[in-house]
Amino acid sequence: MQFKDIDGQTVTANLLTLMADEGRVAHAQMLAGAPVGMALAVAYAQYLCCTHRQHFEGDGLRADSCGECPECRKFAELSHPDLSFVFPAASVGPDASPSAEHQARFRQFLLESGQRGSLDDWYAALGMENKQGQIFVPDATFVENRLALKSYEGGYKMVVIWMPERMRPEAANKLLKTLEEPLGRALLLLVSADPSHLLPTIISRVQTINVRGTENIVRHDEFSELFVNWMRLLFKLNMRALSDTVDTMAGLGREQLKQFLLYTLGQVENCLMTNMAGAGQPLGTGDAKFDQAFPGMVTVRNAELITEAINNTTYAIERNAHAKIALMDLSFKLSKYIKNR
Ligand SMILES: [Zn+2]
Repeated sequence: MQFKDIDGQTVTANLLTLMADEGRVAHAQMLAGAPVGMALAVAYAQYLCCTHRQHFEGDGLRADSCGECPECRKFAELSHPDLSFVFPAASVGPDASPSAEHQARFRQFLLESGQRGSLDDWYAALGMENKQGQIFVPDATFVENRLALKSYEGGYKMVVIWMPERMRPEAANKLLKTLEEPLGRALLLLVSADPSHLLPTIISRVQTINVRGTENIVRHDEFSELFVNWMRLLFKLNMRALSDTVDTMAGLGREQLKQFLLYTLGQVENCLMTNMAGAGQPLGTGDAKFDQAFPGMVTVRNAELITEAINNTTYAIERNAHAKIALMDLSFKLSKYIKNR
């Protein structure tokens, strides 16, 4: 899978290849939010392994794997020995890993569906239409063993966990222990359709990249003014004005607030792309001076921290945290990160 074969995900693809080129590959990452996440995960893994990475000029994709080197050829058949998958399935016995058992079948399913199949499609392929699959403790052991092996090709050992929200709690806890160990050249990639069902302890240990359904940031005109005000206040830290702005944000209500934070996240990713690769889209807030100056505030040094802080706040709000307290806390963090860029 190459990024060029995935429609409408240039911003996410550029973020992933930029992190890879900069050598900033976190050992646990999550692609969250859309069915296209699996295709992106495979394209990303392929990019990391490709021995002839291609770089392009212009506004589109900044880079991609070559599709022709021996590593890329193994990815075309999903037969790369350093890449494994974990996925929900029915139990195959108390000590056996369904993911190990159905590994070849799952790869076949991914090839046949162009890495875009749904959970229902997978259950149908396994002939378990009326059952819900899960990810079990032996699957977590399988992950641990795969990541502990030395890589065949001298690069990354990679495990993609598809639908980690289907993990049994004891399997998630076992996985947490794995995430606490030094992993060396290992990469655990979570592809989640609904991260709100993941344990917060898992979320806090992975770097989350939100995959949007479409490439363009939704142009919420009602959000842009609020966004500009908020970001400007992070420089001045005028407490009274900040408190008023945070009140306005909290007053949006939970669902709208989540949308606003998603919009903010999109703008942050866009700033990083504009700043680092010259390939972002215009911020389009309607405030030309802000649009000109703000992208420079997001750098490879602070982007990860900013993204993580916004994601954590979104999850806290999903879990009914006090919105104003969560947003004030987020404001102080963002203020610090932006000033220490
Ligand atoms: Zn290649």
